[in-house]
Amino acid sequence: MKIPFLPLGQINACYEPALSQRITAAVDSGWYILGKELRAFETSFADFCGVPFCIGCGNGLDALTLIFRAYLELGILKEGDEVIVPANTYIATVLAITQNRLTPVLVEPAVSTFNLDSRLLSAACSSKTRAILPVHLYGRAAVTEELLDFASRRRLLVIEDAAQAHGAVWDGKRAGCLGGAAAFSFYPGKNLGCLGDGGAVTTRNEELAQVIRALGNYGSHEKYVNDYQGVNSRLDEIQAATLSVKLPGLDADNEIRRQIALRYTREIQNENLILPEFPAAARSHVWHLYVIRSNRREKLRTYLKEKGIETLIHYPIPPHLQKAYAGKITHSGLPITENMAQEVLSIPIHPVLTGDQVSYVIEVLNAFRP
Ligand SMILES: *Cc1c(COP(=O)(O)O)cnc(C)c1O
Repeated sequence: MKIPFLPLGQINACYEPALSQRITAAVDSGWYILGKELRAFETSFADFCGVPFCIGCGNGLDALTLIFRAYLELGILKEGDEVIVPANTYIATVLAITQNRLTPVLVEPAVSTFNLDSRLLSAACSSKTRAILPVHLYGRAAVTEELLDFASRRRLLVIEDAAQAHGAVWDGKRAGCLGGAAAFSFYPGKNLGCLGDGGAVTTRNEELAQVIRALGNYGSHEKYVNDYQGVNSRLDEIQAATLSVKLPGLDADNEIRRQIALRYTREIQNENLILPEFPAAARSHVWHLYVIRSNRREKLRTYLKEKGIETLIHYPIPPHLQKAYAGKITHSGLPITENMAQEVLSIPIHPVLTGDQVSYVIEVLNAFRP
């Protein structure tokens, strides 16, 4: 049996013929940037997340970067302020901080959740700390009671990196409304993905929303009038149309992922493999990735490949060990993050994975002998 990691063509085909019809209508309209498709999607995604404002932008990195930039423009952050961020994240999270001349303070994850360990927040905090940037890694909500209490006691901003967690629900609220602002990516492989690059910011803060909207459109609220030295980062009409067709299916797609994760968690029984925790609050995890761990990862990966099962590693090199950041990030040792990077392996999980395929992956994993 051949099991690709993520057959995007097949996943998007589930949305036909509506997808092609809506894209064709957008093409035929003759209006491709900042039009009614963008407004429609922004409204429905804001409603979905439970916030009043959504601003489409070019990609997830820009969404994160524009949030920090807007807080700088508003005078709420200033250059050199410290932002607490998990060390085991995708590099985009850290780039958004450093590109704004803010200082990332890398914190280890809790091994059981892969997410920022709230017990380490206090030690990571200094007089310069102004924000926490939790990443809902692999689709699991990273916000906790302790994190929110800590942030409110110290008056820290909470900015969510929700690029992997579209639709996750924590304490009755969606990812995207758990802090001051949230960044989403609609990169094709995300739980809600478009047909190219795309992203969005969600927030309850009207002033922040207006600054972000202007910053992503050359710093302009009004055509040819520029209040900021902005950038060009917009979600185009064809991507917005695509996302409007796919958003109504997101909860159902996430539920399929959850059922697969439940089967993996119950049925993979091999003492050589460490499985991710299935959270008690089931909807707090949308299983963007199902990440197992093994201290014989390369052998496991080769074995799975021979059996036709494609896997990926998220992520093989943490940001602080990348050449891009060599000598540029101070930290006092990140052994948990570095060890995880050696052991993690993502196995297929997506809405078109069949029951037979899931059974096959389980059977093959159970037969693995290192
Ligand atoms: C995908 C991703 C991003 C960046 O999104 P792009 O749209 O690729 O720029 C940021 N953070 C995390 C955690 C991601 O997974």
